[in-house]
Amino acid sequence: MVNSEFPSDKNLELRIDHWSDLWSRIISASVAHSHFMSIKTPLRIITFVLILTSTPAVFAQQPIRMRVDATEAPRRLYHVELSIPAAPGPLNLFYPKWIPGEHAPTGPITDLSGLRISSGGRLLEWKRDSVEVFAFHINVPAGSASVDVKLDLLSNSDAAGFSSGASATSELAMVSWNQLILYPQGKASDEIQVAAELRLPSDWKFGTALPALKSNGSDIQFKTVSLTTLVDSPVLAGRHFRRVELSPGATPAHYLDIAADSDEALNARPELIDKYKNLVKEAQALFGATHYREYHFLLALSDQIAHFGLEHHESSDDQARENYLTDSTSHLVGAVLLPHEFAHSWNGKYRRPEGLATRDYEQPMKGDLLWVYEGLTEYLGWLLTARSGLRTAEQNREFLALDAATLDNRAGRQWRSLADTAVAARLLYEARTDWESARRGVDFYDEGMLIWLEADTIIRKQTQGRKSLDDFCRTFHGGTSGSPEVRPYTFDSLIETLNGVASYDWKTFFETRVNRTGTDRAPLGGIEAGGYRLTYVEKPSEAQRASEQIRENTSVDFSIGLKLNPDGTIIDVLPEKVAAKAGIGPGMKVVAVNDRKYSSDVLREVIRDAKNSALLELLVANGKSFSTYKLNYREGEKYPILERNAQPALLDEILKPRSR
Ligand SMILES: [Zn+2]
Repeated sequence: MVNSEFPSDKNLELRIDHWSDLWSRIISASVAHSHFMSIKTPLRIITFVLILTSTPAVFAQQPIRMRVDATEAPRRLYHVELSIPAAPGPLNLFYPKWIPGEHAPTGPITDLSGLRISSGGRLLEWKRDSVEVFAFHINVPAGSASVDVKLDLLSNSDAAGFSSGASATSELAMVSWNQLILYPQGKASDEIQVAAELRLPSDWKFGTALPALKSNGSDIQFKTVSLTTLVDSPVLAGRHFRRVELSPGATPAHYLDIAADSDEALNARPELIDKYKNLVKEAQALFGATHYREYHFLLALSDQIAHFGLEHHESSDDQARENYLTDSTSHLVGAVLLPHEFAHSWNGKYRRPEGLATRDYEQPMKGDLLWVYEGLTEYLGWLLTARSGLRTAEQNREFLALDAATLDNRAGRQWRSLADTAVAARLLYEARTDWESARRGVDFYDEGMLIWLEADTIIRKQTQGRKSLDDFCRTFHGGTSGSPEVRPYTFDSLIETLNGVASYDWKTFFETRVNRTGTDRAPLGGIEAGGYRLTYVEKPSEAQRASEQIRENTSVDFSIGLKLNPDGTIIDVLPEKVAAKAGIGPGMKVVAVNDRKYSSDVLREVIRDAKNSALLELLVANGKSFSTYKLNYREGEKYPILERNAQPALLDEILKPRSR
């Protein structure tokens, strides 16, 4: 069932059926290759001509043969065999280090194990480079045309982090090819061909954007593709599997491929599926063109895996809670996941900042434009979520209020610019959550979103409502529909496109917001120009209640400045609020509130009553010692919402569907 939807190159395969095996592989490799992204397409055509006319080039273009045994994925163990074309002499093999979309050197090198390199049956000695520890030096013996590599991946069982976090359970696995391969160091990933085979546990089904040649039960043979395409095309497999067509009968096709820890978790209501069908239509209405042959949302649902999304050109690796599709609260909190990753196919994969468009997995990525790559995607994912009906406009505004309030209480903006959070992204993804306000986290997501919202309202005002950021997206991300391609951009080219949509001093607009320090406030101009203002009320919004329920924490940040675990352990404090000013810090534990045993309800009740009584005392444990902190607080409970101001409600206009 699931392996019947390969892209429509079946005619091509029939045509080449009578060719010799070698030549058919070369042709299929080149065609698959020409489908794919390259910054230098003319070079690709030249290469294609070369391999047809020159025998040595034929061998130079031979693919790495890769066989992955994933039958032990349930116990988080993968076995890999590689045959890598190689000429005699010194050779460095490289393990993918900088992972696209993760913007950091997160290749799980410590999980690479059992490495054995041989040639013609003779074991070769390898030495790891003492500086670049992702590189292995070998010497290919005279007379050899390839080396054979065996390795195991000791896959993570810790449900934290990104693609190298836990991604396999007894019932499902997300196979990320970058974790399973070594390639000749120094070669561009576009220039390396890989013919991969995958063996899955029996009875498992799979979904992927990677075109397959054939599949025999649990053995799949994929078409030869570039290393870029391979790494860009993970495989989701599982025992409980469901495929939903999101754009039936249309080209390109869109699939929601779901693998879950149980059959029940696959039972998304038809109304919810319809909203994901809307998502496809809304994204197409927004961008006006597509840059994929077909698109697969690869959705893994389990409470045992890391929860995150990783974008690819033709798919997304989306990992969420087991009840994501069946529990409305769980879905509400995570509703932006698929819209965000889908928007990345245009903003991030097709259009990519120059510093992130690296030629291989060794070059460090420069994150200075992540406030566009991630910030604009966060904004587009947010508006697509409402335009598709995955959240109501009101729910979307509530989540925006939570983000805006958090950013409006960032003590760290005194010393650190938004630009610095982007440049330091590779560090901040791994930063702890304590003292986050002082440190600043990966703020280029949510603060980038606020800035792009403001840009949208400016375009609308400058053009008297004739244009919006949608017009920018059509120009910048649209173009001609076709196969994946990378079109890198710079800050200047971004500004130029914006000026083509609406004339404005965009350079100053962005530079001010991105580079400034020494300010107290978040950039809230977009919310205000959008017809709303950030304010605080006594009752938490639905968005806040849902977030606390799913994340199992208590957030009284904007009153006394604490976020706590259910047992009273303090996750974080806001430095400018009363609890921190009284001397309380992260990692301490609130034991009692006004002499009553700590619970979330008791704390909220006492904060509420503090309006009428001067007493707000916390008994707090700090390791072995206990202290009582008297808080001077009389303002009651405070939870962020957006309320209307006197401006026209542009924010509501922005969230209206375009395709229906
Ligand atoms: Zn993203």
